Amino acid sequence: MDNSKFQDWGFPIDKMFLSAGPCSAESQAQVLETAQALAGQGISFLRAGIWKPRTRPGSFEGVGLKGLAWMDHARTETGLKIGTEVAEPSHVEACLEFGMDILWVGARTTTNPFSVQAIADALKGTDVPVLVKNPISADIGLWIGAIERLANAGLTRLGAIHRGFSSTLEMRYRNAPNWKMPIELKRRMPEIPLICDPSHICGKADLISGIAQEAMDLLFDGLMVEVHPDPSNALSDAAQQLTPDQFLSMVGSLELSHEQSDSPVFINRMSELREGVDELDSQLLDLLGQRMDIVRKMGKLKADQHVSTLQPHRWQEIVRDRIKKGSGLDLSEDFVLQLMQSIHEEAIRQQEANRLD
Ligand code: PEP
Ligand code: MN
Repeated sequence: MDNSKFQDWGFPIDKMFLSAGPCSAESQAQVLETAQALAGQGISFLRAGIWKPRTRPGSFEGVGLKGLAWMDHARTETGLKIGTEVAEPSHVEACLEFGMDILWVGARTTTNPFSVQAIADALKGTDVPVLVKNPISADIGLWIGAIERLANAGLTRLGAIHRGFSSTLEMRYRNAPNWKMPIELKRRMPEIPLICDPSHICGKADLISGIAQEAMDLLFDGLMVEVHPDPSNALSDAAQQLTPDQFLSMVGSLELSHEQSDSPVFINRMSELREGVDELDSQLLDLLGQRMDIVRKMGKLKADQHVSTLQPHRWQEIVRDRIKKGSGLDLSEDFVLQLMQSIHEEAIRQQEANRLD
């Protein structure tokens, strides 16, 4: 976590950059009640959806413009800063009129570069802070591209929100955390603050603290959490919203970590262990290089005999055998499968490159 990334954003930061509030603004009373429960508790901004991008028509689609007035009123009453999701230029215009303190681009919108560009164009000439949620599919290019479009429009206070990715696999979460995506975003855009939205990842209130803690362990810069005074009667995302008390106690129990420690014992031991890892990585690469030498020889043999590059039966056997070996070494099936798929993909690419020469 690096609170200095928000230095010129002008938002209060206590423990970390923290956004909380209902999935949707539902009534003036609900917005105000939530704001009052969160005021003075170290919240950077109150969130509430005004225009709700529901996957299918017919469910609650947000209260529209009047919700902005409710948020504005809650800001006046409590001093909290306020932010909402924008999905098209007319939303941006309305938010600018109300002087919203911060905006975010939702996951469905980030998926569409036309929409993101239209939002960026509508924001030209302002410097409103904007947070960009990851696209619903695990496509890092779309996520980075959306941030770049906003930066190209002259916006300087930009952040990213990790809210998980759609998946057809059975899982405990509503959206797969797929941590390698935010980790890759952090590697490619280290200066962009990265916030986790555990509510949309989890889909269930009781899973939220685990994902929020994992985000802290992965050095996220803040959280956005859905908080509702009466979650079970919420008009959207009822199962994943926390009450203000649950939220505050969850944040209070999060353990924060730092990228470094100045304990000499830690530094010495880590450096020994890292030497071991560096040496093993170097051996791994040498071995992979040697493996590819053999692969190229096999490729030539196949080509000479008009034998196919892909050998489905052999590939089946390899996967089965390596997963079994891996399980004896405490390596997960998923990891071994992905590793072998990567190696196999490179082998095929090399054999084909030689064949097509
Ligand atoms: C939301 O924040 O309420 C929302 C709709 O989120 P997402 O864009 O992540 O689905
Ligand atoms: Mn929601």
